[in-house]
Amino acid sequence: MMNLEGQTALITGAGGGIGRTISVKLAESGADIVLVDMSPDVAEVRGEVESLGQKCLTFEADVTDFDAIDVMVKSAVEELGSIHILVNNAGITQDNLFMRMKPEQWSKVIDVNLNGVFNVTKAVIRPMVKQRAGKIINISSVVGFSGNPGQVNYSSTKSALVGFTKSLAREVGARGITVNAVAPGFIDTAMTQALNESQQEVILQQIPLGRMGDAEDIANAVAFLASKEASYITGTILHVNGGMY
Ligand code: NAP
Repeated sequence: MMNLEGQTALITGAGGGIGRTISVKLAESGADIVLVDMSPDVAEVRGEVESLGQKCLTFEADVTDFDAIDVMVKSAVEELGSIHILVNNAGITQDNLFMRMKPEQWSKVIDVNLNGVFNVTKAVIRPMVKQRAGKIINISSVVGFSGNPGQVNYSSTKSALVGFTKSLAREVGARGITVNAVAPGFIDTAMTQALNESQQEVILQQIPLGRMGDAEDIANAVAFLASKEASYITGTILHVNGGMY
C-alpha cells in the first residue's frame, strides 16, 4: 500500500467503474478526496471514502464547463488547503464506424475526453505551481495506441492525451510537478459491459494474460504514480493491459 497521508486527490468521473475504485484506493492510502462527476452516484463513493476516515468533497460537475470547473477547484482548495494529485479519469465513448459517425459524436467525445482534461488541469495547475509540487495522472487507453474500429473519435482523444502528458511534463517538471498517463486495456466496467459476447470473446483472444482487467488493476497503477516512490517518473505512459499491447 502506498502512503499518501497529507495529500489531497481530485478524481474526475469518480462515480464510474474505474474512477470509483481509484478514489477508494487513494483514500485507503491516506489521501483526502475530491470527487467530481456528472452522475449523482458519486454520493455513494463519498460514503466509502469517509468510512475510511478521510475527508471528502463531492461536486456534481461537468468537466466540459470551464468556468464551473474553475469555481469548483477554487472552492475545493479553499476547503481542503490544496490539491496535490489530479486524476483526469472522466471519459465517454460514442462508437460508430467512421463512415456513419455524426459530427456531434465526434465533437462530444473530444469535448469530454480532451477539452475536459484541459479544463480541469488548467484549474489545478496554478495551486500546484504555487506549492511547487503535484502529480497529474491522465487516463488514456490501449486503443489510443492500437486503434479500434468504430472508435476513431475515442481513440483520437486517447492518443491526444499522450501528447498532452508528454508536453506538459516538460513544461512543469522544474516546478516539481510530474505528469503521467495510465493506458488501460479492456477493463470490466459499464463501458465494456456494453460490448456483446462475441466482441468480448475477440478481445479476450488478444490478451496474453487471458482475462479482462479489473478497476483495481488501474487503481494500483494510479496509486503508484501518485506516490513518492514514483517521484522520478514523468512524461511516461504506464500500460496496464494484460500484455495485449
Ligand atoms: P464509466 O464507468 O462510464 O465512468 C465514467 C464516469 O465519467 C461516469 O461516472 C460518467 O458519468 C463520468 N462522466 C462522463 N462525462 C462526464 C463529464 N462531462 N463530466 C464529469 N463526469 C463525466 O467508465 P470507466 O470504464 O470507469 O472509464 C473511466 C476512464 O477509463 C475513461 O476515461 C475511459 O475512457 C478510460 N478507459 C476505460 C477502459 C475500460 O475498459 N473500461 C479502457 C481504457 C480506458 P455518467 O455516468 O453520468 O455519464
